[in-house]
Order: sequence, then C-alpha cells, then structure tokens
Amino acid sequence: MPAGVATVSDAGNSDRALPDGVQRRTFDGEQSLATRGEPVYGEPTDGPWRAWDPHRSKLAATIESGLDTGLAGDDNVLYLGAANGTTVGHVADFAGRTYAVEFAPRPVRDLLDVCETRPRLFPLLKDAREPATYTHVVESGVDAIVQDVATRGQAAVAARNAQFLADDGRLVLAVKARSEDVAREPEAVFEEVCAELRETFEVLAETRLEPYHDDHLAVVARPR
Ligand code: SAM
Repeated sequence: MPAGVATVSDAGNSDRALPDGVQRRTFDGEQSLATRGEPVYGEPTDGPWRAWDPHRSKLAATIESGLDTGLAGDDNVLYLGAANGTTVGHVADFAGRTYAVEFAPRPVRDLLDVCETRPRLFPLLKDAREPATYTHVVESGVDAIVQDVATRGQAAVAARNAQFLADDGRLVLAVKARSEDVAREPEAVFEEVCAELRETFEVLAETRLEPYHDDHLAVVARPR
C-alpha cells in the first residue's frame, strides 16, 4: 500500500462521509442507508425514503465500508456501468445532473423507467470505452465519476473518461477482479489496476468490498 493512501481502518466513521440527501434510517427494524425517491427494485420504503442496499450496490458498499467518497449532495455525476439503474437511481436521488452510461440495450430499457421520475438523470446507451461518442452530451467539469463496469480494462475506462472530471473532482471506482482475469489472484489484479490508475489519478483511498461483494476493490481517486 503506497504512503498517503487511506484504508478503511483510518477512514473513520462512515456517517461523517454521507453526502447530503443520504441518511441512515430504520426500515423494518434494520438500519440502512437511504435516499429519497420513487422505489426501483422492491426495496423497503418509509414515507419518501427508500433503503439503499449495499449487497446490491457497490457504491453503497463503499460508503458502508467507511471510505470517504468525497461525494456531496447536488454533485454533477458521470456514472459508468449504469445497468438497470439500481445504484444510479440512488445517486440521482441526491446528486445534481447525473449522466448514466450503459452499453447493453436490455438493462437500459429498465433504466428508462428509473429516469421517468428523476428529471436530472440522463440515460446514455453508449460504450464507456468510447467517450468521444458522448462528449456532445456530457458536460465537462463534473464533480464525480462513479464507475462500476464489468469489463476488462477498468483502469483504461477511468483514464479515458477523466477528461470529463473537474480538477478537484473525484473518481469513485469499483474494480471487479474477475472481469480483468478470472484466473489470477484478486490482490495481484488490484495492484495492477491501481498502478495503471496512478498514471492518470492520485489514489486517495481504497478498500475491499467484502462482505458485500467478493473480489471487488473500491478506489477513491482524484485527477493528477
Ligand atoms: N452499477 C450497476 C448498479 O450498481 O446498479 C451495476 C453494474 S454491472 C456490475 C456492470 C455493468 O457494466 C453491466 O450492465 C454491463 O453491461 C456494463 N458495462 C460493461 N462494459 C461496459 C462498457 N464498456 N460501457 C458501458 N457499460 C458497460
């Protein structure tokens, strides 16, 4: 672990890092992260609040793991790997303009339903490896890139999209070891991905996402 990279043990109380619009609330007697918005995936609700399940969301797991994501309420966000909108729906509940990139048409159909009640959530049926195809839509200087793409070359995807990030913006990335190489030890994959990330970003913090997601590493970084 390079000097200056925070780990969970020194990241402190995760609640200090909750963005405005994200709260810890009680659903059916259980504490959970929560955002305010229309339900998306049958999650428990309490009035306008809906539970944000860390077992279904790497970003929720990252927050639960205690990393300071640097995310703030009303941030403009570029979200890479939106799938059917489980996580990006929560992001759009608290963030500002939220651009949701997903290249598979099937989940994008469900994503469109999530967008219906979220006027600041913009779905983009695009390949995150080809940001030139959406530079005309996504503004430059977004406050955060949140990335959860299950593909080989996750560091390269982040590097190619860094052009959209404000100088003081944050990359919040979930690295899936098996998408890089099913046969290698996850720890070796994570070292390689982080080394490649450091060519473009300064890595501020990282943590494994067990027990919520096996063989995933969460990384928070900012542009160099
Ligand atoms: N982030 C989602 C959530 O928490 O609700 C789950 C994302 S799922 C683990 C990974 C997604 O990345 C899949 O829907 C896959 O189609 C998408 N994906 C993989 N490679 C991609 C690429 N190059 N461009 C856009 N999406 C990609």
